[in-house]
Amino acid sequence: MNEPRSSSPDAGFNEWNELRLGRQCPFDEPRPASSDGWDVVGTLQVSTLYLGGNQSYRGHCLLILDLRHATRPDELSREEWLRFCADLHAAQSVIIRTLHPDHINIASLGNVVPHLHWHIIPRYRGDPRWGAPIWTTDTGEMPDVRLAPHERSRLLQSLREALASTG
Ligand SMILES: [Zn+2]
Repeated sequence: MNEPRSSSPDAGFNEWNELRLGRQCPFDEPRPASSDGWDVVGTLQVSTLYLGGNQSYRGHCLLILDLRHATRPDELSREEWLRFCADLHAAQSVIIRTLHPDHINIASLGNVVPHLHWHIIPRYRGDPRWGAPIWTTDTGEMPDVRLAPHERSRLLQSLREALASTG
């Protein structure tokens, strides 16, 4: 089924390109500790870990670069990139220790918000897209699962304790 485009083909690119240039980038600091999209777990060397709002994949977290606005690895020095990767290593260990998933997906896309960040996505046998990437459908059609407040608080607490105990 082909829907006619409601706006010019360039409109989406122009909007994304403004973000790429760092204009009104929602991932630039200061970022709110809590929003509809996330709750902060903790700060690492050069990035901050957030528990995503949508928990279709329980424990889905975002690790967002704090250093400055940057879209691609080549916009960081090698040292900065290695520190960001070290943060990723620590964050995914925290998530695995806390949630014990069957597998984990790590993704850096920047197609919606072109500011360097990792999605850390625990995967479970029987999850909605097991055996496939989670982004195979339009984002508007993807399931949006919200945890009950007490369940979310408990998960955040566990993640924060696991992060705090990372040496
Ligand atoms: Zn940014």
